[in-house]
Amino acid sequence: MRKKLVVIFCICFMLGLGVLAGTSYFANADTTESYQDEIDAAKAAKEQLEKERAELEAKLEGLYQQTEDMNAYIENMDKQYMELMYSIEELEADIAEHEEKLKETQELLAQVKNQEAEQYDTMKKRIKYLYENGETSFLDVLFGKGSLTDMLNEMEYRAAITEYDNGLLERYNATKLQVQNTEALLIAQLEEFNAIKETREFELAQLDELIQAKANELEALAASIGVDEEMLFTYWDEIVTMGADIEELERLEAERIAEEERKRKEEEERLRREEEERKRREEEERKRREEELRKIAEEEERKKREEELRRQAEAELKNNQNLENMLWPVPMSGRITSDYGYRNAPVNGASTFHQGIDIGVGNLSRANRGVVAALAGTVIETGYSRSGGNYIYIDHGNGLVTRYLHAYKIYVKEGQYVERGEEIMEAGSTGYSSGPHLHFGVWINGVSMDPLLYIDYSDWQ
Ligand SMILES: [Zn+2]
Repeated sequence: MRKKLVVIFCICFMLGLGVLAGTSYFANADTTESYQDEIDAAKAAKEQLEKERAELEAKLEGLYQQTEDMNAYIENMDKQYMELMYSIEELEADIAEHEEKLKETQELLAQVKNQEAEQYDTMKKRIKYLYENGETSFLDVLFGKGSLTDMLNEMEYRAAITEYDNGLLERYNATKLQVQNTEALLIAQLEEFNAIKETREFELAQLDELIQAKANELEALAASIGVDEEMLFTYWDEIVTMGADIEELERLEAERIAEEERKRKEEEERLRREEEERKRREEEERKRREEELRKIAEEEERKKREEELRRQAEAELKNNQNLENMLWPVPMSGRITSDYGYRNAPVNGASTFHQGIDIGVGNLSRANRGVVAALAGTVIETGYSRSGGNYIYIDHGNGLVTRYLHAYKIYVKEGQYVERGEEIMEAGSTGYSSGPHLHFGVWINGVSMDPLLYIDYSDWQ
């Protein structure tokens, strides 16, 4: 008992932290600190409690079995006790019956004795009378009086009488003896019955003692069971509380982990955005430098090319007097809408290095959009391309070719010879074009040149 109380105390002490101070403990908990150690400790404690509870239950099971056995034993003894009681009752009935018989027998005996005494008395009187009143009495003969014959006759007579009396006496005597025997038998039986009764009563008393002892034992057992059961309830309570405790701790731990995860993801996202921003800036910077380098390279290339072309043109110029006679190809318009060289492409797909000049005709009627050959020459190519639309190339000899693009209508054929100033097409807006215009290009030995270097434009200025 004392040990059990100590165990309970220990349990309470163990649970104390979590159970008794539970609410304040949880409220003060730091969200960044793990509850795992506490959960593990609580689970271990709960497991220990469950083990102890199971042991107690097993023990109680044993006690219940013991109680059951004891009850069966007592029941059996009660049965024996009852049987003994019944047998004693039966004995008592027998004894009463025999006592009754004995009483009757003794009365009968008294009666028989009485009859015998009376008979004896009567016989004595008769004998006395015979002796006193007979002619020759037996006594006379005995004392020498009277004849023997008389006496014998008389004796016969008396003998007959005496025989009768004796017969009666004998019969009474026999009856008396018989009754006395019966009496003795009854007394012996009664003694026997009483002896048995005494034995049985002794047994009964012993059985009663035994039953009482067992009943006391049973009572003690029940008290012990009561204590154990109470303790079992305590275990159950503690285990349930502990379970709730663990659940709460696990809930808090899950919350804490979720919060940690949320923060981690937030940080991850922040770092990811930072990295993205950094890469974006790097890429921008890289493109900017690339563009700068590209422009520098282009500018250098362009200057180199211009220089080269200029040198070539100067050389060619000496060999080609035709160049000086080149006609303005659009008689009705001197409106240059795009110069030779670098520019921003006016239409998607148009080249950024403009290999000719554009002469706008959008403000003119179609009848006034005629285009003429800048010099006499042979049409070497006519056709249609996605960028140039309908076009004509004219070879003027000595490596000089003029190009006319974006025509609405072409009037010449490949291989045809055209005079200087002959109308070859109607300007239009075919190919990559933002409006009706003529693209006019001058090519010397396969290299494009600025037409304004060779053509007289002063009339339009
Ligand atoms: Zn053009």
